[in-house]
This record gives sequence, C-alpha cells and structure tokens, in this order.
Amino acid sequence: MELEALLKEAEVAHGHLCAGQVLGVRMAMHACALLQITEPRGKDRKRLVTFVEIDRCATDAIGVVTGCRLGKRALKFVDWGKMAATFVDLTRVVGDDLYRGVRVAALESSKDLARQRFPEIEPKNLQQMTAYRELSDAELFSVERVEVRLPAKEFPGYKAGRVACALCGEGINYDRGVLRGDELLCGGCSAPESRYYKVVNP
Ligand SMILES: [Zn+2]
Ligand SMILES: [Zn+2]
Repeated sequence: MELEALLKEAEVAHGHLCAGQVLGVRMAMHACALLQITEPRGKDRKRLVTFVEIDRCATDAIGVVTGCRLGKRALKFVDWGKMAATFVDLTRVVGDDLYRGVRVAALESSKDLARQRFPEIEPKNLQQMTAYRELSDAELFSVERVEVRLPAKEFPGYKAGRVACALCGEGINYDRGVLRGDELLCGGCSAPESRYYKVVNP
C-alpha cells in the first residue's frame, strides 16, 4: 500500500483532497502495518472491522484504505467526535466474541508540530496537509492494543431473518427488535424519545 496512490483514491471517493484525508489514510495505513495486514482489500479482505469515532473527512479515507464500509457492516460509527479509530482483526480471536485490534488516535500535538516543522508553508491547510504526509507515525498517532467484543450478529456477513414491528409494521433486521411484554417493537416504537424525526404529514 503506497501513500500517494491511496491519497489519489481517497480524493476521488471524498470529492477533494484535504488534511483530514491525508490523516485518515496515514491512520489506516499505520493500523494495517501494526496488524500485519498488507492487502486489506485483496488477500486480507474481510479481516477487518473498523470502528470510527468521527464522521469527517478522515472517515472516508479510512474506508478507502481498509475497504471497510458502512453498507458492508464492516465500518461501525461511534459518535464521539474524536479523530480516532479502532481496527479489529477478525483472525485474532482471544475469547468468546473477543478479538484483538489496535486503536489509533491522532495526537493533539501534531498540529503544533506542523507549525514548527513547516513554518514557511501557507496557507494553514496546506501546511497541515504537508505535515500529515511527512511526519512519522509516532509523531502523528498514539496506539493502544485493544480487545473488542464483536458478537456474531454484528459481523459483516451475518444472516438474520426480518420481523415486523408489532406497532408500526415496518421490517426490522439484525435482531434490532426490542421485546416489550410479548411484543417485538422497532427502535422508534420501543423508545419514542429516541426518534430523530417528527412526522409532519398532514
Ligand atoms: Zn475533506
Ligand atoms: Zn415500529
């Protein structure tokens, strides 16, 4: 996996090349190297499930490098607003539903480093982009070895039947129904306060 080629792909997928893309590509490359995954979209396909902690530019780049996509259930979104991601290696089983991986987080200090190392580059966006290309992995990221619980039903290829919500009748996949008494309800019907929308049809 080569940085420049991946950056080109990330640019196409994301619509523009920005500092966040560079950081995301570097982050995912670093994680793959740590896990000795050389071809995440080739022979190592289906080995990774990635938890991203932010929905920004870097997230798209991580998807490009790892091949993990939301629509394949291989990309999990944890809404913490943090520039970090955990890369779970499904071949490293350490217990029941328990897998080894690495959590890689962007260091806050990398912004200052960008200023120190490349003071002559303007504007700031270009300065950051350059720094994220040039700085070492250790200067950009902190790394934690982690274990992640991933039950079979959270796996990319999990096959589950569909059941209809007892209240609204809409289909529910992946065992996301909630039992209320002896009725199976969908997320919205079982916890109306969690609805992110309000119906305004006349
Ligand atoms: Zn961007
Ligand atoms: Zn419902």
